[in-house]
Amino acid sequence: MEFDVIVIGGGPSGLMSAIAAGEKGARVLLIDKGQKLGRKLAISGGGRCNVTNRLPIDEIVKHIPGNGRFLYSAFSEFNNEDIIRFFENLGISLKEEDHGRMFPITDKAQNVVDALIDRLHDLKVTIYTNSPVKEVVYEDGRVIGVELKDGQKIAAKAAVIAVGGKSVPHTGSTGDGYAWAEKAGHTITDLFPTEVPVTSAEPFIKQKTLQGLSLQNVALSVLNPKGKPLITHQMDMIFTHFGISGPAVLRCSQFVVKAMKKWSLSSVTMKLDALPGQNKEELFQSIFKMLKDEPKKAVKNTLKSLLPERYLHFLLERAGIDLQAQGTVVSHEKIRSFVNEIKEFTFQVNGTLSLEKAFVTGGGVSVKEIHPKEMSSKFTDGLYFCGEVLDIHGYTGGYNITSALVTGRLAGLNAALYSKSH
Ligand SMILES: Cc1cc2nc3c(=O)[nH]c(=O)nc-3n(C[C@H](O)[C@H](O)[C@H](O)COP(=O)(O)OP(=O)(O)OC[C@H]3O[C@@H](n4cnc5c(N)ncnc54)[C@H](O)[C@@H]3O)c2cc1C
Repeated sequence: MEFDVIVIGGGPSGLMSAIAAGEKGARVLLIDKGQKLGRKLAISGGGRCNVTNRLPIDEIVKHIPGNGRFLYSAFSEFNNEDIIRFFENLGISLKEEDHGRMFPITDKAQNVVDALIDRLHDLKVTIYTNSPVKEVVYEDGRVIGVELKDGQKIAAKAAVIAVGGKSVPHTGSTGDGYAWAEKAGHTITDLFPTEVPVTSAEPFIKQKTLQGLSLQNVALSVLNPKGKPLITHQMDMIFTHFGISGPAVLRCSQFVVKAMKKWSLSSVTMKLDALPGQNKEELFQSIFKMLKDEPKKAVKNTLKSLLPERYLHFLLERAGIDLQAQGTVVSHEKIRSFVNEIKEFTFQVNGTLSLEKAFVTGGGVSVKEIHPKEMSSKFTDGLYFCGEVLDIHGYTGGYNITSALVTGRLAGLNAALYSKSH
């Protein structure tokens, strides 16, 4: 059988790409090395699939710190609202949760994957699973087909590389696309883990003092060597046996990686504000009043409502306040030092978990070498890229999947148009 477009990779970007090419009437082959399509999509968003995000486009771009601005042109063709309509047309109703996050009303990622696969069948897209691609074959500056690992060669005028990054390799994303891109003349920017837990060798981490403790709605910052915040995220976090994790930490993680690289640091300072809603003076006054109102009670009991118990005890000890001391004996100076700990607890972190353990791969095929409205290569005709293989990375919250679906849509559509006109 002959094909106009070969899409390599059956993640969200490849599935969308194959559908878009099929809708343009192209004869499409979708190839995946795994037994199932959409394996990473099926575990995304805690297994509920955070398909997109309903915030305005400018906000979406802000939440994609890795080259989000590159997507402006693509969004003018197909955006988050189009994704929502697309899924509703496939019979997948979506609901909006906090921070604009969109999920299927069934809360089942597999429903999303199945709907995409059903659409591929409707469009008569040929699907090869268990078929790892060895390489994309080029001749005279254009695509002529792909070669599978088993030696089979399949001809096509256009190929879409949608093989994802290098994170969570058991889902199939093992970084195979970078070599194919380099062979076509593309630059691969440095790969690094993003949306990843952060490690620390601080004694309180090593001694597991706070392990398992989660803090809600705290402001976590990554500081530069001069002590100024590079980024602050106000969300939840958790202390683990190796360091810290949770939404605020995942979002900060890429700034830790970048700071270590930029300033050749072996550790970076992070700052934790456990009560970002109150300034230091307000907090001092309210703690002072609490202690004054109950002068005979042990401090740890008087201040119970302030913070989760383990964190309260931890910070009181750091401020040199005896947990059992009565309110009257705590000096102003000690209260101020406790307030400082609440508002500006700083600690050192020394890296992150590995790229394989990261939710998302930072870096990839340089977007400078990609036509932003078509997702086509500036160097090789008939070659298209989409999804996480590109140097685009966002926060979790539907931003990566949005980027994958939007770039996938454009790559598939334009690969079909190219193939038909050549
Ligand atoms: C646990 C987890 C939770 C996540 N949650 C969110 C979230 O809530 N919101 C969000 O926006 N993002 C989330 N992400 C990130 C998001 O899932 C990815 O960014 C997205 O899946 C990338 O899509 P993709 O199509 O580019 O690549 P992938 O989904 O990685 O798909 C790539 C496909 O290519 C195939 N492939 C690879 N090499 C070959 C080859 N040589 N031959 C043939 N096929 C090949 C693979 O088998 C795979 O099926 C999460 C990621 C993880 C791991």
